[in-house]
Amino acid sequence: MRATVMFGAGDVRIETLPDARTIEPTDAVVVVSRACICGSDLWPYKTMEHSETGRRMGHEAIGVVESVGADVRAVKVGDLVVMPFAYSDGTCTFCRAGLQTSCIHGGFFGVVGMDGAQAEAVRVPQADGTLFVLPVGKDHALMPSLLTLSDVMGTGHHAAVAAKVAPGKKVAVIGDGAVGLCGVIAARRLGAEQIIILGRHADRIALAREFGATDVVSERGDEAIERVRELTGGFGVHSVLECVGLEQSMLTAISIARPGGAVGRVGVPQGETMPASLPAFYGNITVSGGPAPVRAYIDELLPDVLEGRIEPGRVFDRVISLDEVPDGYRAMNERESIKVMVEP
Ligand SMILES: [Zn+2]
Repeated sequence: MRATVMFGAGDVRIETLPDARTIEPTDAVVVVSRACICGSDLWPYKTMEHSETGRRMGHEAIGVVESVGADVRAVKVGDLVVMPFAYSDGTCTFCRAGLQTSCIHGGFFGVVGMDGAQAEAVRVPQADGTLFVLPVGKDHALMPSLLTLSDVMGTGHHAAVAAKVAPGKKVAVIGDGAVGLCGVIAARRLGAEQIIILGRHADRIALAREFGATDVVSERGDEAIERVRELTGGFGVHSVLECVGLEQSMLTAISIARPGGAVGRVGVPQGETMPASLPAFYGNITVSGGPAPVRAYIDELLPDVLEGRIEPGRVFDRVISLDEVPDGYRAMNERESIKVMVEP
């Protein structure tokens, strides 16, 4: 089968590899109908050291179950499924608490030693706990929005939950990538009164407004902090969705949270230390978040997608074949595209 492998920064290739097959009795093999390129795939695209063996890429997919191991019960051959970016058994103490990204038998797709979803097929460990069977056919018009349940919509929702968004709250979203845009959808869905998007790309800002952003702050650093304070009566916001992961964005996040506010961070931190620890302490600001347990959120978000109340699939502005994936990375890295969908 053909699959995407990254060998180093800027070096993404489509390789012919052995076909995906079940290894453990709890595995399933999913033939990928749709996958996509994630903003987090761009970090290794910028920085990965050269590797002879490379790393399989992709962690978001919808596909059809092709085969299952002997112990798989909840999914069967022919089912159309969403594959969350992390696999999980669904039964351990953390899964039962709704924190599948901390599953004691879990892990992530698209890392060294695991299959990736930017491929014709993928081996899915812990299939019963991981895969979510969709009640629609694979040519359904809502496929792009359903695909976002594998990561970006669930991640934007997680940022909003971690930032304690609730009816009447003032909210800021840092980052205008696909996760930030889904964070706007999530904040509106949870009843936020004011939603300030911090971002600078015209096409993304326009979409953020359509998703429910009420204000736009395109400044950076101290000027951005000043603008958010002006827009919120001088106090800052109750909830900040930090969807970038850089030191500067975290510093901004804590600086625009009002006393007693919360920061929900879902951008993978690119540094080891947390900035602005002292202001966070004196403001009694909660800093929460992490890898989103998107598997836990599908039940809640799916009806809104199926009934058209939210349209997160609009973050996709380009559709490509598997052969075009290397150019898809380039396009996203150069901000030519918000998010690229792959039809293998
Ligand atoms: Zn578990």
